[in-house]
Amino acid sequence: MHGLMMDMQLSIASFITHAEKVHSRARIVSRKPEGGIFSYTYADAAKRVRQAANLLKKLGVKHQDRVATLAWNTHRHYELYFAVSGSGAILHTVNPRLFPEQIIYILNHAEDEVLFVDIQFIPLIEKIKSQLLLLKHIVVLVDKEKMPQSTLPLVCYEELLAAESDRYEWPQFDENTAATLCYTSGTTGHPKGVLYSHRSTVIHAMGSVSLDALGISSATVVLPVVPMFHVNAWGVPYAATASGATLVLPGAGMDGASIFELIDNEKANLLLGVPTVWLALLQYCEREKKTLHSVQEVVIGGSAAPMSMIREFQEKHNAFVIHAWGMTEMSPMGTLNTMNPHMASLSQEERYKLQTKQGRPIYGVELRIVGADGLPMPHDGKSFGRLQVRGPWIAKSYYKHEDRSAWEDGWFDTGDVATVDENGYMNIVDRAKDVIKSGGEWISSIDVENIAVGHPAVAECAVVGVPHPKWDERPLLLVIKKPGQDVTKEQMLEFLADKIVKWWMPDEVLFVTELPHTPTGKLLKRDLRETFKDVYTGH
Ligand code: AMP
Repeated sequence: MHGLMMDMQLSIASFITHAEKVHSRARIVSRKPEGGIFSYTYADAAKRVRQAANLLKKLGVKHQDRVATLAWNTHRHYELYFAVSGSGAILHTVNPRLFPEQIIYILNHAEDEVLFVDIQFIPLIEKIKSQLLLLKHIVVLVDKEKMPQSTLPLVCYEELLAAESDRYEWPQFDENTAATLCYTSGTTGHPKGVLYSHRSTVIHAMGSVSLDALGISSATVVLPVVPMFHVNAWGVPYAATASGATLVLPGAGMDGASIFELIDNEKANLLLGVPTVWLALLQYCEREKKTLHSVQEVVIGGSAAPMSMIREFQEKHNAFVIHAWGMTEMSPMGTLNTMNPHMASLSQEERYKLQTKQGRPIYGVELRIVGADGLPMPHDGKSFGRLQVRGPWIAKSYYKHEDRSAWEDGWFDTGDVATVDENGYMNIVDRAKDVIKSGGEWISSIDVENIAVGHPAVAECAVVGVPHPKWDERPLLLVIKKPGQDVTKEQMLEFLADKIVKWWMPDEVLFVTELPHTPTGKLLKRDLRETFKDVYTGH
């Protein structure tokens, strides 16, 4: 149509070309897997990204080939984010915490011929290489002098990169071209691939920088602890590059001490990650009597943020928790619970209560809850049903996979059960398969967990429904105590008694030394249900 806007295709390469011109001196800081902290500017990064694009060409990577990475959050992984997608290939970030059989499956399923790998994962690749049928090149993301000895024919990223020109013309293509690939590991069957496009990635980044979302600007010093192999670190590398934020990448150092050191040195003001990493950081701060002086906001997602964690960040570190919800199929941003005039008008306690909800949908995401009959349910904060979503950065199918069962009438069924209140705040009740069905009524395992973890002697806990002769299922509470702390079953139940309704009370409390987690840090409740299935039936 005459008189319309320019027909510019959205592209991931445009992030880095923009940063090079506009934010050339803004910095990226990275903890190298081989040791030491590295720092450079977006202008330096842009040059190396072009060298990496030339390297990919030399390795024979063609348009829409999948290129795998098995790597931590580092500047080199960052360079591949732009070089691979920008040159028209597809960046396949592999989660090293998957079982080896799953890694073999997804590398073969994606038909990866080139793998970029951090030194920590070489032993893994040595073990499984004979089953990676298509893999031709293994490029190690390390300095030349730190190249490991191996039985495999490894090549060195830094050495190869140094030989490449930093002149490269970014190819132009349709914005609906695939850019990145991330597999989500369900609890059953093979992992399923979600393929993101240039278009979905760019508009997701544009949405996420807004103040009502992550609020990323050139004044932000952002530290994504969420891995770059888990839904593209929630899109932060793109959002930071678009805004010229200082990007701080923690490498392999995920423990409390290492994260604290980076936050403190770089004066990070925005952190993102799942609750388990914050448990470790908060415990470190408590033990070492440290305060997170620079941190203004902590985005917590992936699992529910308990009120005790929200309170501790606020009261001990003066950091506001933005509770967020999303999933691999959603790029991942779905809802965020940011500060706004309504929240500011509440008392501190009411505010904490509201913050335990997962927030409101970001512009671009529509959500609804539906009942067992498939009909939409009211947004009254009480009715709960299956949470369904739609929007331009939500997957419409899985990569090379027949399963369409999650899609219906243009909506994607998240597998979560939720409520939505009158103000649009969504609250996750549970994963549909983790809801405890007691005497025909439902109990939210997440709610009980989040209260129990508030006990001062509790490091981590899990609540699962296990078979019960009279009630079908009853809740069982599993507790890991904090080192040096003690609590009895009776004290635990007493702590819960005035905080939850009577019939939600766990019938039994067991103390354990560890709890199983999925590769993305969620409690593996299926395993717990299996292990403890006889607790109430007495078999
Ligand atoms: P993933 O695809 O691995 O990112 O997992 C997505 C799932 O994690 C969602 O469907 C939820 O079940 C869960 N999840 C993510 N964020 C939250 C949150 N803030 N609270 C509760 N569950 C969450």
